[in-house]
Amino acid sequence: MSLPAEQRWRGTIASRGLALGAAVVGGIAVMRARAKGTPAEEWAALAAAVRRTTARLRTLAATADALTAEILEIQTALLEDEALLEPARDAIAGGVAADRAWADALQALIADYEAEDDEYFRARATDLKDLRDSVARALMGADDVPDATGSHDAAILVAQDLTPTRFLETDWSRFGGAALFGGSATSHVAMLARSRGIPMLVGVDGDLSGIAQGIQAVLDAESGWLVLMPAEETRAQFAAMAAAHAHIAQEEARFLAPPAVTARGRRIQVQINADNPAIVAGVTPAHCDGIGLTRTEFLFHGPALPDEETQLRTYAGLVRWAAGRPVTIRTLDAGGDKPIAGLTPDDEANPFLGVRGVRLSLARPEVFAVQIRALVRAAALGPLKVMCPMVTVPAEMARVRTLFVQAVRRLQAAGVACAMPALGMMVEVPSAALRAQDFPVDFYSIGSNDLVQYVTATARDNPALASLHDPRDPAVLDLIGRVIAVGAATGREVSLCGDMAADPDLLSLLLGLGLTTVSVAPAALARVKAAIARYDG
Ligand code: PEP
Ligand code: MG
Repeated sequence: MSLPAEQRWRGTIASRGLALGAAVVGGIAVMRARAKGTPAEEWAALAAAVRRTTARLRTLAATADALTAEILEIQTALLEDEALLEPARDAIAGGVAADRAWADALQALIADYEAEDDEYFRARATDLKDLRDSVARALMGADDVPDATGSHDAAILVAQDLTPTRFLETDWSRFGGAALFGGSATSHVAMLARSRGIPMLVGVDGDLSGIAQGIQAVLDAESGWLVLMPAEETRAQFAAMAAAHAHIAQEEARFLAPPAVTARGRRIQVQINADNPAIVAGVTPAHCDGIGLTRTEFLFHGPALPDEETQLRTYAGLVRWAAGRPVTIRTLDAGGDKPIAGLTPDDEANPFLGVRGVRLSLARPEVFAVQIRALVRAAALGPLKVMCPMVTVPAEMARVRTLFVQAVRRLQAAGVACAMPALGMMVEVPSAALRAQDFPVDFYSIGSNDLVQYVTATARDNPALASLHDPRDPAVLDLIGRVIAVGAATGREVSLCGDMAADPDLLSLLLGLGLTTVSVAPAALARVKAAIARYDG
């Protein structure tokens, strides 16, 4: 009898890592039949199911980290919105069973979200599916949380998509990773997977219905492959790759605690990028030199814009965590590939060249003012630094400085504790990189992700242009070198917080250009500090 042939399917990497194990196919709710009652009974049953689901979300949120609690709060708020239940209530009044009425109402809403051009809204459809299934399960008394009990290796969760609550209810000590046939790398689930180091592929290009429970699978979320029924040779390759990864990680771990110093004794500041506040919880503050970038966009993805107190709590939490180390907060960088409904323009032909970053903040002073007040209040608590994204001309930073100074004066007059933070700029627009010396700033942070995109005129999210989208392009390196030289001549700190800094080969080039501060994802800290120790230039 011949062995079944290995199957390889491509996927998009949402969270890096490797796993091998039995596929556990999840995501299909098991519904039991339920008898239909009178409209009043049906409405009471649906209302009770909604109440039970809300209570369950609250229980989960009570023990969750800040990011998770925020996601669960979004779901709770959706569920508590009367408008969500109205179509189902009408259908029930017309004689439809509660489960059918609920499923139809949610399906219509999900279809609307899925038809959106905007990836952010498409990703939110997953939250609605999560609610649809959670309430349906409460109504039916069914449970479909995948369980890998009985498998020997860590299992691999394989599903069409995974919702945030399903992710949170899954016991990840039993799963080595997840392969999703739908999903998006910008979804909440992908964020959760990254922050917890669970390897995950999304958009796997294959046939989910053909996967049998328990079939052996290799999840290669380092190069973007799901391999089913791996051949002996593939398993051997996987084992070698996993062993090499484990060995390298062990070697690099030795460099995590001590300060980063090159082989010739040059001290390099290594800070972390905080894409959300929860991510710092897994980092020992003494293992880094503070926070070099906080992407505040995460605060603006709820159903409403975050108020001053909410923002202050978040910034103050980061300052407390850093315990005297610098904390760099970036003002809102919405627009481009990070639209925010109701805030960013939705009719731009080319959003990457549109009203993005500081351009948007200056165009929406009422929104910017809230963030500025929260930032200057947090600056009274520790060494907070603030930087603006997508700065193009010096006048933008002059305007920002005026707004900060005015906010400090007003708050002081009102007796509110506050301080003027150091004000810096992201250098990611070529014109700003060419004339960095002209900008009224205290420090520079090079955003290489966007700088590469704008210098080489290649969209950062277009894989077809990957060969042109090259951080090694001499024009990119020239501009980075120029900004470093301006920093040295003017005594202003220069750091680099784009992905380039986390690649050991590219990092050598940057250190060769004289860079002394980098900011990287927490997961890359040990790797980057080890690469610095090896650098002998
Ligand atoms: C960058 O552009 O390099 C950067 C760090 O910012 P973002 O990736 O958030 O645009
Ligand atoms: Mg950028």
